[in-house]
Amino acid sequence: MSDTQYLAAKTIDEAVNAHEKANGTARFLAGGTDLLVQIKSGIRKPNLVIDIKKIVELNSINEISDGEFEIGASVSGANLNRNSKFAKLWPGVLEAFRLIGSEQIQGRASLGGNLCNGSPAGDSVPALIAAGCKAVIAGPKGRKDVPIENFHLGPGKTVLENGEMLVSLKFPKRVSNSADAYLRMTPRTEMDIAVVGCGVNISLENDICTHARVSLGAVAPTPLLIEEASDIMIGSKLDDDTLDRVSKICMDACNPINDKRGTVDYRTKVAGVLFKRATKLAAERIGGNK
Ligand SMILES: Cc1cc2nc3c(=O)[nH]c(=O)nc-3n(C[C@H](O)[C@H](O)[C@H](O)COP(=O)(O)OP(=O)(O)OC[C@H]3O[C@@H](n4cnc5c(N)ncnc54)[C@H](O)[C@@H]3O)c2cc1C
Repeated sequence: MSDTQYLAAKTIDEAVNAHEKANGTARFLAGGTDLLVQIKSGIRKPNLVIDIKKIVELNSINEISDGEFEIGASVSGANLNRNSKFAKLWPGVLEAFRLIGSEQIQGRASLGGNLCNGSPAGDSVPALIAAGCKAVIAGPKGRKDVPIENFHLGPGKTVLENGEMLVSLKFPKRVSNSADAYLRMTPRTEMDIAVVGCGVNISLENDICTHARVSLGAVAPTPLLIEEASDIMIGSKLDDDTLDRVSKICMDACNPINDKRGTVDYRTKVAGVLFKRATKLAAERIGGNK
């Protein structure tokens, strides 16, 4: 990193201006658990690293109104874990985040970094998509909101343009009888990335599904929102027939890579299985059993 300049920005404007001026040669630094590894291994060689951990708004957890949260992009997993109200409303988002690395990694790693790294296998991303979360982006032209399902363009590529920075993640207001869940499959039990990840977020009223969002990770160049799943699940009792139908839709949506960690067939099959398990887990949470 000897040629790399370091700037600890104190405001969003300072960070955005410095990034814009660097014209594509700067990277923002949150927890550094992706970026520093990439710099050390020569995958990334930024001229400027802009540390954003000192910007107050990026490190804040705000409850905008009762049950409606906005989480700063560099809030660490460890800090988010300590917010008991958020944990009660979004257990699936936290269970996704808790899978990232280890306790030490989670002391630094942020939801924002997991999203902006652009990996199709980032664990928190399917959970954020299922939650219906929006990314708040600041840039030279002001601020805008982007639904998380539109944030990734391909492996390592996001909608962020020169000078643009993720400020926060906005979670929608929670209605009662709602819960989410995230499950992933890895060949190893610890410190591995997902071969498949699945996030499910549902609401039930008198056992009928009134809201559903399903997302899959690591089965395509970008994390996927399975829109057809919502159409079939809403209005159903999430009975076996419905779950079988949606499981098939999840499998049909898969377009995964074939590698030593999982073949195309394996990843596709596991996507269908994880969808069913995550949906059952979310429903059990609404019933207060998990
Ligand atoms: C041992 C180990 C195990 C891991 N295990 C997992 C795992 O199981 N699952 C998983 O998904 N990941 C895993 N990771 C990857 C990593 O920990 C996560 O992706 C983490 O959430 C990244 O967050 P960070 O704050 O450290 O990001 P950083 O490394 O700081 O940033 C990541 C990327 O996002 C950009 N960025 C960060 N913040 C912003 C912002 N606000 N606006 C614009 N761009 C931004 C950076 O420039 C960089 O390109 C692991 C990493 C290690 C080292």
